[in-house]
Amino acid sequence: MILLFFMMSGVPVGLKTADAIIQSSNVGEEAHVADKSSDAGEEAHVAVISLHDGKEVAADDASDEALKADEDRYRQLREQMVNRQIIARGVENRPTLGAMRSVPRHKFVRSAEQRQAYMDSPLPIGYGQTISQPFIVAYMTQLIDPEPGMKVLEIGTGSGYQAAVLAEITDQVFTIEIVEELGDWGEQNLRNAGYDKVQVKRADGYHGWAEHAPFDAIVVTAAADHIPPPLVEQLRDGGRMVIPVGSPFRTQNLMLVEKRGEDIRTRNLMPVRFVPFTREEE
Ligand code: SAH
Repeated sequence: MILLFFMMSGVPVGLKTADAIIQSSNVGEEAHVADKSSDAGEEAHVAVISLHDGKEVAADDASDEALKADEDRYRQLREQMVNRQIIARGVENRPTLGAMRSVPRHKFVRSAEQRQAYMDSPLPIGYGQTISQPFIVAYMTQLIDPEPGMKVLEIGTGSGYQAAVLAEITDQVFTIEIVEELGDWGEQNLRNAGYDKVQVKRADGYHGWAEHAPFDAIVVTAAADHIPPPLVEQLRDGGRMVIPVGSPFRTQNLMLVEKRGEDIRTRNLMPVRFVPFTREEE
């Protein structure tokens, strides 16, 4: 944790920082925060295409054995992902690393993207949205200092992946998605991967989820132009919220919001790029 803050805030804000850690992807897609010297993405790609060892598998044989081989391979890819993309960049929170090792990320992407699931980048999930880069998911998870028993709200279910990572740590995960179809798909992904307790709501997350408040932590995975007051309201005293704040389609700031009574403290942590936080018409 300390190392991470040193790395991220120890560099002067400006071109150098942005250049060193941000590689923006297409406009509208979440940029990925990455160290240019890292070759993890490329290696992961090479590793992924060796699934099934390149052998043709007969249709009904594609069953148990092949699936098991794939599962083992995916597990190895996850291990590489955690070591090269996440620990190497300073994330050291144990529950977070455990969760990143466990959640089958390949079950939270579309089949066309499955083989890229463990690469060092965000991936498209349809409707102009993306599943976040693994490092970003881990970094945001670590920031809320997750523990078993915590009640956590996520805004922006998308694929369901971030919710699954949280659900590996605590049984009380609530997530809200504004695009109905994505809410359905994200919930389906969560159920298919065995995360039965996560509660998914299709709504504008700006208003939070009052009936389950207060939350120990809130994770917002879309970039808002301001911190939604209802979310601050629904944060428990002593709670933490992590949220990208800034203009859509530009670099935003990942902010940590801490609530101490009436005192709301905010800290800018690093430049990021997320898909926009959209609003339902009132
Ligand atoms: N956490 C997701 C990331 C998805 S991208 C994952 O792990 O895959 C961000 C998501 O936020 C998109 O699915 C987008 O539709 C959703 N979103 C944007 N504005 C929202 C809002 N006001 N309320 C709820 N969800 C919103």
